[in-house]
Formats: sequence, C-alpha cells, structure tokens
Amino acid sequence: MNPGDSVIIDRTGLDLLVDALRDNGYRVIGPQVRDQAIVLDELSSGAQLPAGWGVRTQPGSYRLHRRDDDAVFAHSAGPGSWKTFLHPPHRRIARLGADLQQPCPTDDDAPTPTAFLGVRGCDLAAIATLNRVLGGGSHPDPDFTGRLATVFVVAVNCTEPGGVCFCTSMGTGPGVAAGYDLALTESIDEDGHRFVVDVGSDAGALVLSRVPHRPAAPAQIEAARGAVSAAADRMGRVMPDVDLPALLRDSRESPQWDEVASRCLTCANCTMVCPTCFCTSTEDVTDLTGDHAERWQRWASCFELDFSYLHGGSVRTSGAHRYRHWISHKLGTWHDQFGSSGCVGCGRCIAWCPAGIDITEEVARLAEGATDDDQQ
Ligand code: SF4
Ligand code: SF4
Repeated sequence: MNPGDSVIIDRTGLDLLVDALRDNGYRVIGPQVRDQAIVLDELSSGAQLPAGWGVRTQPGSYRLHRRDDDAVFAHSAGPGSWKTFLHPPHRRIARLGADLQQPCPTDDDAPTPTAFLGVRGCDLAAIATLNRVLGGGSHPDPDFTGRLATVFVVAVNCTEPGGVCFCTSMGTGPGVAAGYDLALTESIDEDGHRFVVDVGSDAGALVLSRVPHRPAAPAQIEAARGAVSAAADRMGRVMPDVDLPALLRDSRESPQWDEVASRCLTCANCTMVCPTCFCTSTEDVTDLTGDHAERWQRWASCFELDFSYLHGGSVRTSGAHRYRHWISHKLGTWHDQFGSSGCVGCGRCIAWCPAGIDITEEVARLAEGATDDDQQ
C-alpha cells in the first residue's frame, strides 16, 4: 500500500484503527459525547466514538440528537478544536526557584506522539493556519512545532455539514486537502457501514497495514466522492463573495459596529472556540514562601478590556472597537500578516455566541452598507 491508494475498512476496522494507533505508541484524540456535546478527548477504544449521534446548530444554539443510523462522524464541529492539543489553553512555560539558577524548561514540555482522529477539512485548514502563525516567521514557537511534529492525522471528509458551517465559502471543505496521513469517508447503505480510506503518507500506509482492509471498487470511491460534493451544496451558511480585506478596510467607520456592539456581550466565547485564534497572555505566580516562581501562558482574547492595555489604559474600550478589531483581523489584515484568511468557516463562533451573532451576517450587512454608500 502506498500514498494515493484507497481501500475499504468496515466499522470494526475503525475500532481496530484506534487500537493500531495506540499499539504504535500514539495517544489517540477523537470525538466523544460528554456534557451534551461532542468534545475532543483521549480515546481508549473506538467504542467511545459518538456512534449514532448528530448535531443541530444555529446561531447561539448547539443540540445533540439521536440519528436513525450508527454513523460515527455525522456531526459538525463541536465546542473544542484541535488547537487545544497543539496550543494549550493554559501552559507553564518556565520555573525559577532558589534551587534553580536559570529559568528552566518545564517537566511537561516533551510532546507525546498524538493521533488526531476525525479532523475535518475546515479543521485541517485551521491547523495549517495556526502553523503559519505559530510555526512560521523568524521566531517559531518550539512548543507548538514540537507538538505538531508528533501528530498523526486521520482526517474525515465531511458528508454532513451543520447549520452554521460555511467551509465551502472559505475554500477549506467539505473534503480534506493535503496534510493528512489517512482520510476517511463514511458511508452507510444496504451494503453495510464502511469507510473509504485514502492513504496520505507512508506512516498512514504503515498503520493501515495493521487493520483488515480490502480494495476499494471504483464505484465505492465514486460514491464517496459524490457524497462529499453533495455536502458542499448543503452548507448552513454562506460567506458573501466579496473582497473581504477591502470591505473590512473600507468599513472602518461603519455604523454597523455600534449596532453589533448593542448585541455583543464581549464574553470572548467566539475567540475561545475559534480554531485559529492564537493570542495569549503570560502571568507570573509565586508560592507562599516566595522561593519559587512560575510563568504561565494562557489563552487571551481581543474581547477582553485588558487585551489592549498600554501604559495607563486600554486602547479598545468599547465593544464596537473590540468586535471591529476581531473581525477586521480575522477576515482582513490576517491576509497581510500570514498570507491567508484567519477564518476557515467552521461556524463555531456562530453556534457558541450566546447572543447568536453570525459572522457571515455581519459581513453581509457591512457589504450592504458599502453598496448603499456607493449608490449615494
Ligand atoms: S460576538 Fe458573541 S461570542 Fe463573541 S464576544 Fe460578542 S457575544 Fe461573545
Ligand atoms: S471565525 Fe468563526 S467560523 Fe471562522 S474559523 Fe473562527 S470560529 Fe470558525
């Protein structure tokens, strides 16, 4: 078996794939049901996968529901993303103490080889985006690059887009692009429950050789590709097809910012669930004796008042300024900094915004406002 080959595994084969990855020394992270959501966490077996669970999403709403089949990957993005495992929310980055002459690396710095099981096209694109931000430039983050270097990716071609998904608009899905070791397309029909597996790397071929598989018939491959193409037409949302960087740049004084601020709670949920938001702050803590100090890094959000604190005050004091900053960076100046959009169209910020604020609708309103301005 070689990269580029496609084979079939059945539902039992998926469980055996989890076992094979674990036997090869990988910690396997994948979807599972917890707290009425599909979350990403360590799997000890394929039995923990969310078989038979689906998800209904809309602005400000995410609900699990039972499906009438046992599909494992028929759910759209949940509240967590792979960012959590590559760029953790809270991480000790240095220790200093009376017994330590220099700040030293921390004991949890050695990355564990990790397999990500069930990475969708949007999230594979998000990992690549994070890698441009944190792994690129003249000062790559060694913690991020070290973790990413150990990752084995089992991607999933999406055949079941959600109500807030718009990956097709952003060019990131529903099929997965390059960057995977194995890619699965799930199908259930009268011939059974199976997965077409596309081999993306030698490492993928090696792991798959330990799982019972059979050749994929051309008709099975064609059917799988067709299901992914059909999913592209069922996206719940569409990002307006406009020059987004130019729109955001020209909308700086739009009255829309005050209007969205009247609904926005500046809670930062959108940035916490976003798979590409990468900002952090650092805090130093000491123990009660004063003998030891630690420096911790934690996720930060541009929606926090203190995020823009500079010598005596915050620069972005209003919700309008903070929302404008977030979306202008995400869809506009990110291109200037990192050569791509900062949005992959996963829809998480829409589902998990308590006010139901929808980034695609906000852009549509800005675009309408720009058109009105042009006509005056
Ligand atoms: S847009 Fe929504 S999720 Fe983001 S800060 Fe405002 S209220 Fe919170
Ligand atoms: S901005 Fe929203 S839709 Fe875009 S990548 Fe972030 S969470 Fe997903």
